Order: sequence, then structure tokens, then C-alpha cells
Amino acid sequence: MKIKHESGITLEEEDNKVILDPSRQVESGVVTHGHLDHLVKDSYMTPPTLDILGVRKGEKRGKPILYGFPKDIGGFEVTLYPAGHVFGSAMVKVHDVLYTGDFNPDGGKTCKRAVPYDCEVLIIESTYGKPEYDLPPKDEVTKDFLAWVEQQVEEGPVVLGAYKFGKAQEVIALLNEIGEKPYVSESIAEITDVYNHYDIGLDYELWNGESQREKYTVVVPPKELRRPVGNITKIAKKNGGVSSYLSGWCAIYPFYNSMDIDAQFPLSDHAGFQELLDYVAQCDPEKVYTVHGSAKEFAVEVEKRLGIDAEALE
Ligand SMILES: [Zn+2]
Repeated sequence: MKIKHESGITLEEEDNKVILDPSRQVESGVVTHGHLDHLVKDSYMTPPTLDILGVRKGEKRGKPILYGFPKDIGGFEVTLYPAGHVFGSAMVKVHDVLYTGDFNPDGGKTCKRAVPYDCEVLIIESTYGKPEYDLPPKDEVTKDFLAWVEQQVEEGPVVLGAYKFGKAQEVIALLNEIGEKPYVSESIAEITDVYNHYDIGLDYELWNGESQREKYTVVVPPKELRRPVGNITKIAKKNGGVSSYLSGWCAIYPFYNSMDIDAQFPLSDHAGFQELLDYVAQCDPEKVYTVHGSAKEFAVEVEKRLGIDAEALE
């Protein structure tokens, strides 16, 4: 099978062809998840990703394909598996080739974890592919985060910045666990409604410009916290509130200068460096291709540490 990075990840064998995460609209494409850098119309995708496409691109145009049910696409037998990255996210298996897409072996509150599969060729994302990009264990991060929220919300408003699809809904699910029903901005609410359409049961209230309560939590997109801060943050801070940002990159970079925040938590929906390596070892492939982020660096580390032939697919 020929594998190249060209308008997506293209797999070709004789007359068969499928494009994974295509960069343009194609009939034989597979979209792994609903983040904007992956989302194009007309391709195959899971039903939740198709609904997310409808919300984010204004037109629900694509072909639904369920996890675990093989489908003939472009002459290949293609199967999707949970990727643990965001709600609806999928890894793609094409014969003996596994493409992880963006993935997380820990999964989350709103998506099943990515399980390793035996494969001959592994195409793996390498967002956190450098050795210094190690992330702390997810359960420790969530414990620290919830303890901080419980303490702060006794004092006043708590503003939480999280990417509007995926991270924001994870934060809502975590807050619900400690009995908090957060306010959310409109852009987060419309995506959260897709989750609830699938009975994920995220409990939130739409922010309508002010709070009826003195002490509350509110989930906003990260840009609300960037200086100069948005209105929701301005109101909270005026009333003695605090704010925090949640992203895997918080493990690596401080965001206290670019954002008006009092705390940051490294909650990631990707695999950290060690998790990436462990995942490769568990899939035990003969060949590894790395894509996205630190692809070159991660390929070097796979060869050095695991002795598996690896190269960046750029
Ligand atoms: Zn993503």
C-alpha cells in the first residue's frame, strides 16, 4: 500500500484509494473528528462528528459511519474506533494500517479511550512528540482542578477558559461531578447541545449577560481570557472573581502574560510524549509514520527508544 501526505493522508493500492482527514471535500474521505482543522463536508464520519459539522459549518453534509462496523470506502475495508480525543472522534483502520488521528489513550468524561490495535503500519499524530512534552497523569490534573474550583467558588465567580468543542464539554462534565451547574457562552452551548442530543447529559445554563447568583462557575472560549478580556470575565473580575485556563500546553508554557488568569491546568485531549511511545509499543507495528506537531522529532525518538522503523509523513 502506498501512503503519502497529499491533500490529507492518502492510502493507495492499485485502483483503491481513500483519503484520511482530507484537506478538501472528497467523496472517498474519512474525517476523524470535529475540530476545525479536520472538518470538511461530503466525507465519511461518525454521526456525532456529522452533527458537529452541521453546527460548525452550517450544513450537515457527509456520510455517517458507526464505530466498529467495517465499510467499503474507495475499495478498501475501513473501520472506525474511538480515539478518546473529543466526542465522536475516531481512529481509522484500513486493512493492516491504523491511523490514530488526534487521540488520547486516557479518553475523557465524554469520549471512550483510544485502545491499541495490532497493526503492520501505524500512522500516529505527534502533537506532543518531543521528550520535554510529557503531560502529568489526567486523574491528578482533574483532582487538582476540581479542588481549586471547590475552594474558589466559595469566594465568588470562577471563569474557566477551554476550547469550545471538546475541552469545554469535558470541563462541564467535571463540574457536574462536584454538583456545579456552570453558565456557558452561546458558542459552547450550541455544541454542548449536540452531546446532549446523544444523552451525554451535560448540565449547564446559558449565560445571558449577568448571573442571578453571587458565586458561580462559567465556561468560556479561551479568547475571553486573552487581554483585553471579554465581557463575561470583566463582570466576574469586578465581583472579585478568579479565572483559569485549561489546555495540555499549560504543562509546558505559562499563559499568565497573554491571559488574565489566576491558575492554569494541563488538561489535555491528546497523548503526551510517554503515552505516545507506550501506544506505539502496544500496537507493535513494523513501520511508524508520524504526522502533525513534532513529527520529525517523534520519529527519531521511536527509532531510538523502540527500535521501530519510523519517519515523518510530511
Ligand atoms: Zn483535534
